[in-house]
Amino acid sequence: MKIAVAKGDGIGPEIMDATLSIFEANKVPLEYELVDMGKWVFDKGFSNGMTPEAKLTIENLGLLFKGPMETPKGKGVKSINVTARKTWNTFANKRVFQTLHGVDTVFSKAGIPIDITVVRENIEDTYGGIEHMLTHDVALSRRFITRPGSEQVIRYAFEMAKLKKARRVSCGHKANIMKITDGLFLECFYDVAKAYPELKADDIIVDDLCMKLVTQPDAFDVLVLTNLQGDIVSDLCAGLVGGLGFAPSANIGDHISIFEAVHGTAPDIAGKNIANPTALILSGISMLLHLGLTENAGIIENALLYTLESGVHTGDFGDKSTPAVNTTEFARAIINNLGKKPEFNAKPVITNKPGTPAPFKLQQNAMMVSKETGDENIVGVDMFIESDEQPMTIATKCQRHAGVKFKLVNISNRGTQVWPTGSVYTNLVNLYNVRFESLDQEPLTQQDVLGLYVSLSGNFKICSSELLNMWGDKKAYSLAQGQ
Ligand code: NAD
Repeated sequence: MKIAVAKGDGIGPEIMDATLSIFEANKVPLEYELVDMGKWVFDKGFSNGMTPEAKLTIENLGLLFKGPMETPKGKGVKSINVTARKTWNTFANKRVFQTLHGVDTVFSKAGIPIDITVVRENIEDTYGGIEHMLTHDVALSRRFITRPGSEQVIRYAFEMAKLKKARRVSCGHKANIMKITDGLFLECFYDVAKAYPELKADDIIVDDLCMKLVTQPDAFDVLVLTNLQGDIVSDLCAGLVGGLGFAPSANIGDHISIFEAVHGTAPDIAGKNIANPTALILSGISMLLHLGLTENAGIIENALLYTLESGVHTGDFGDKSTPAVNTTEFARAIINNLGKKPEFNAKPVITNKPGTPAPFKLQQNAMMVSKETGDENIVGVDMFIESDEQPMTIATKCQRHAGVKFKLVNISNRGTQVWPTGSVYTNLVNLYNVRFESLDQEPLTQQDVLGLYVSLSGNFKICSSELLNMWGDKKAYSLAQGQ
């Protein structure tokens, strides 16, 4: 079996060499094709940080094991790490956080064991990076949460939980505030959960989740979250088990998967051979499990846990009264411990059943569409207009444009209603949302909306607009605070 390997920038080559030396010592049945990715590839003029040959190799092999990579600052290029995850639709980011004996934390000292797996949606949310300045004062980020995208990552979380013999899958969210976006994610969670009656499925508001993770981390098992919340919660979990040096990451897609450490290139210690390779080794172990190389994964993880237990450490962690080893020595200690079992948390060693990393080839982009609901009507429009006038003045002007099809129903500013009722204590910015609805409750056409747009544009700069849709008797849009 062949996989693509990119050593990365900064400490990347040092920790990747250390990891591959352990794989070699354990006779892991993998071949590695080195691909050109990273800062030096950006510097050569490839704007996405990888050569066309590297892209082709990864798409053919279906698996990339990578070191951290630096995105050049101030050149207007996007992060190669994010680009790779999004281009190849690695929709689930899995991070496993477990107590490692030898890595002291407040919880290990208190005897509280931690074994939490965070599955974070990896493509959508504000990470689409679709942002606009609507006025000089107002920036807008679009947050896309989709039904097929949510179902895909949630199904992965349940499948993974089943394989891991977990008891519970919890969905972290903020659906009490973001009723439509996080509400959709939560709805998908309980829809998917129906197919896994053996697993307890529950949900928790993300702020409460953060508090409980810190006060009772042993209460959680598998967590699934949207992209940004998942990003923050997974770093919080990294802190529970000793920091980013112990945080592995798997970016899972249907066709291509990427395994990497969570930390970056650590430029402050690069080239000194003192970096801690544990996170990349744990990512490599997760990759071996993904490939069905369960025996190699079990032996290497046990050797790593044994090594940590015996007090061997790099300079960034461990008992300061015993001297630190360097990256190569740390890897050598693990190699010497291959075949040994740790006292705590020993992993099962199960005979390999290798699978193929790229199970199918794609000829065209996959379109993910869930079944449409039948009855769908346009019932109004939100016009986002620039103005520094008072709400009453805006309302008077807007009512003149409503014509025979529309009525002005409300005006809000930063999501708070300021007309027809409101408070003078609500501070305003120069972007109003003016909501028009159908005058006679009859469905509207896009032409009706365009007519209103043209008329209103005579008085205001319209920075953006959104149709208001009804699906049956359900509003497919939110109400303003106070509406
Ligand atoms: P960083 O994770 O590289 O470093 C933060 C701190 O942690 C530094 O003090 C560093 O020395 C230490 N550290 C990190 N990994 C370590 C290890 N394995 N052993 C010992 N100490 C370690 O974060 P940063 O400084 O914010 O980012 C540096 C560069 O890495 C940036 O260019 C950033 O874009 C990139 N980055 C890449 C990835 C990735 O490839 N997935 C992720 C994060 C950051």
